[in-house]
Amino acid sequence: MLPIVPLLAAALLQTAPEGCRKCEHRGVVDCSKHSAEERQWEQEVPRCSVAARCAPCGGSLLVDCPKCEGGPLSAEMEQRRQAAAAWLAQEDPLETHLQRPLARAETLHFRLVVDVVALKDGKKKVDGHAFLHWVARDLERAAALQDGHYGAVAADRRSPSRMWLWQRREDHAAVMEKFLFSTSSGDFKMLGRDPVFSVWTADPQFEDAAPRLHSLAIHNGAHLLLSNLFRELWVGDLGAGWLDEGAGHWYEDKVIGRSTNYCVDETGIPSGGIPDMARSSIRTRLERSKDAVLPGLLRRQSGELSADEHAYAFSFYDWVSSEHRGALAPLLRGYHSRRSSSELLPEALGFNVFQLEEAWRAWVTKSYPATEPKPRRYERAPAPDFR
Ligand SMILES: [Zn+2]
Ligand SMILES: [Zn+2]
Ligand SMILES: [Zn+2]
Ligand SMILES: [Zn+2]
Repeated sequence: MLPIVPLLAAALLQTAPEGCRKCEHRGVVDCSKHSAEERQWEQEVPRCSVAARCAPCGGSLLVDCPKCEGGPLSAEMEQRRQAAAAWLAQEDPLETHLQRPLARAETLHFRLVVDVVALKDGKKKVDGHAFLHWVARDLERAAALQDGHYGAVAADRRSPSRMWLWQRREDHAAVMEKFLFSTSSGDFKMLGRDPVFSVWTADPQFEDAAPRLHSLAIHNGAHLLLSNLFRELWVGDLGAGWLDEGAGHWYEDKVIGRSTNYCVDETGIPSGGIPDMARSSIRTRLERSKDAVLPGLLRRQSGELSADEHAYAFSFYDWVSSEHRGALAPLLRGYHSRRSSSELLPEALGFNVFQLEEAWRAWVTKSYPATEPKPRRYERAPAPDFR
């Protein structure tokens, strides 16, 4: 019996995994500065300056294991640190102009700055870095939906869209003057080439309220994206107000659960007051009035839409994107070529404008609820299976 014992011990030694238990043989451990939730956010975006500036991990989210000499993930950690450091070392025009570091993230479609200490959600506080990641996530959701609708790939957009949120009025004013060539203190965007949106979060219209600013960002993000798709050209003043504003409302509604934002030119609120975008109310209005909507709507520029026309633009976009999705890309390209709705819509959808009106109204009656469901609560982390 005796000789068996050393043999068994030797066999056990051979099968025992080598390396360090502390790091599960990786050679690295998670950086303790990030919670599990933060780690998830950082993995969703290619770059975040807050993570990249983390002193212990340099944005790799990993640090050397204190119990061993390294392992298979040590090289990857080093690569990730170097990539984050190289990104951080590139000059950022906003940081240069304001002469301080900013909380900013790069996603597939956006360059996002959320220069905010904290926002409010009712009585709750929302941390600025958390908000940056929630908005980044939802902007990418809107972008993925839009890409799907138009069959768009990365090469179909010339430049990323820039979105900036500033808590201090003077910072919004400083970047407005330098990069948007405007002295307006309200939220402001430039569409088409190198699209950009900037807003002062404490503006009396937004009062640092996270839910309001979140939906504002998604609505305008949809505008920036569409204005840069296929061509760097905004169609909102090329007779496609319905497509431009319809898209703003639609992606906001899809991602947030309700559209509450609308764009106006410098003159203030649209004629007819604040648009009511609830589907049940749109259905009621259309059923009550038999006056044709589309002949007027399809000619308007974005800035000319009345309150009701905002709602109908949303609904018409809802119908086209749901029932005739393949028509959206040819329509957008047609407006780029400065063709008119009266030419393009029959060509893309196979109906004249009166048949379109009939088909759209019939779909609204069939698809929209008679009463409005309760609005979704503002959620910090919507379900990941959103799409
Ligand atoms: Zn170890
Ligand atoms: Zn981050
Ligand atoms: Zn870290
Ligand atoms: Zn809009």
